[in-house]
Amino acid sequence: MRTYTKSAAVLLLCLCSSRASAWHPASYYYTPDYLALKRQIMEEFAHAPAGKFSEFIRRRPPDRGGGQKVLALTFDACDARRHGYNKALIDYLRAEKIPATIFVTGLWIDANRQAFMELAKDPLFEIEDHGLQHRVCSVTGRGMYGVKATKGLGGVIDEMELNARKIQELTGRRPVFFRSATAYTDELSRKVAQRLGMEVVSYDVLSGDAMRESAQQMSRNIINGAREGGIVIMHANHPKWPEVQALKLAVPVLRKRGYTFARLDSFTLH
Ligand SMILES: [Zn+2]
Repeated sequence: MRTYTKSAAVLLLCLCSSRASAWHPASYYYTPDYLALKRQIMEEFAHAPAGKFSEFIRRRPPDRGGGQKVLALTFDACDARRHGYNKALIDYLRAEKIPATIFVTGLWIDANRQAFMELAKDPLFEIEDHGLQHRVCSVTGRGMYGVKATKGLGGVIDEMELNARKIQELTGRRPVFFRSATAYTDELSRKVAQRLGMEVVSYDVLSGDAMRESAQQMSRNIINGAREGGIVIMHANHPKWPEVQALKLAVPVLRKRGYTFARLDSFTLH
């Protein structure tokens, strides 16, 4: 529960809106109850090893999809300061009535508040946690692909939990899944996510958008990688990337083959 009053929250938001970025001051995030939780978790995991660092920390459950030809299209909304919002992609998903899961960072939320609120209100879309500052969650500080890592165990908790709280406060729904920036993370971070009530999610099908592949190649990647309960990874924060064109090629083929699409929270994951 938040401990500051509504008027204090409004004041903080006003102070913040006067800056170029809508980024909240530390007092917005570091509430006494959050700090107490963080201290407790740091004590619990103080002597735990980092474990393996990988894109695929957890094995794919064999029954995911429940025998159904169902795919989860997932889209990361990473750092909007340099990129933005692929509205055409969202318009396409709405027009085709394709449910999707969107992993958002705190950075992206603050730069796209209105779009974020619209997405969160639409039952077609599931909002999940992509970290407060788009950091690779690694207790040893190991980054990936030039993306910075969190600092220590405390940094991992901040990255996961502060964004989960931010999403919950804005939407009324707490995320149940966490995807680390770049999808790389370590085993201890996964345990921390579970302690916070979230499961770490990676992907099964790499669309190739982040490798700047063509729409044709991306559609081939998605079609060829499709399997029961498969999780496809794409991005929603690059308006110039060809996700829409790729989906326009892939979706009719997948539907012909009997595939349907579902939000990740409707899957059997455990
Ligand atoms: Zn990302």
